[in-house]
Amino acid sequence: MSAQADHFTLAVASGKGGTGKTLVSSNLAAMVAASGLATTLVDCDVEAPNDHLFFDVSAEVTLRVDALVAEVDSTACTACGVCRNACAYGASRIFGPSAIVFDELCHGCGLCVDMCPTGAMHEVARRVGEVCVGVPTARDGLTVVTGRLDVGQVKAPLVIRAAREAGRSCGARFVVLDAPPGVACSAVASMRNADALLLVTEPTPFGLHDLELSLRLGSDLRLPMGVFLNRDAGEPSDALDRLAERYGASILGRLRFDRRIAETYARGALVVDVVPGVREVLAEAFRSIRRHAGAKSHANREIVLR
Ligand code: SF4
Ligand code: SF4
Repeated sequence: MSAQADHFTLAVASGKGGTGKTLVSSNLAAMVAASGLATTLVDCDVEAPNDHLFFDVSAEVTLRVDALVAEVDSTACTACGVCRNACAYGASRIFGPSAIVFDELCHGCGLCVDMCPTGAMHEVARRVGEVCVGVPTARDGLTVVTGRLDVGQVKAPLVIRAAREAGRSCGARFVVLDAPPGVACSAVASMRNADALLLVTEPTPFGLHDLELSLRLGSDLRLPMGVFLNRDAGEPSDALDRLAERYGASILGRLRFDRRIAETYARGALVVDVVPGVREVLAEAFRSIRRHAGAKSHANREIVLR
């Protein structure tokens, strides 16, 4: 549960791409916002953000995201090697008469700047991406925040943190973090300090394998977790039940395979507006994950999902 009792931050993640994470995130956010709870949807899949495609976003504000990196003034550098020896990331090297810094490896810790005996090292800001904050038309109570990593950049966690910060500053009481697939540092940056984690999976051997990786990560981050089964074929799910149980999670929602869902999603519309039954499944998953996270706030009691 969040430190602020009437706020709830849910990270929606998956072990692999294509399981329906974006479908769950965007539809859940729109549905909860429509029920009167100010909601922010933060697209943390910064290498391929697509939540905004489901909304007619207007009044967008774009914020630039910079990374601080070290830079060498070659005219002042004596190639003494102090910065190379100090850098824990191998970002600073000596080439010929001067040090050089590899931007992609530099973490901007500033150690080399402090240690350089000639003052040749300094920090500069380099653009790595942007964050867009927009308000969809005809979706009262919803804000959509999109993080975008620039092409060729590698500092996705920095853009994710900026997007989450922008999402927090919107003041919503419910925040949905649409995490990137997988369990790399971008997924960690998207999930950390959330109140709960909803893992979207599909009933295939690959789905189970990748779900286990996500369950392990969620467990390491000590997050209350639930599983949402998408494209459920109605077959027995003993293996999935056992796997979830092993990590203290359970299946909180099952969305049956339905061609209308795929068609609606493909044309960029929200499934909850079109396909009967989806709303109820998502509403139950939302109530369950809040219960699982121990949410007993005013916000929880007031919400009537329609
Ligand atoms: S510590 Fe300063 S002077 Fe020494 S190699 Fe690095 S940049 Fe050059
Ligand atoms: S700022 Fe830190 S990470 Fe970057 S080159 Fe200097 S010591 Fe290495």
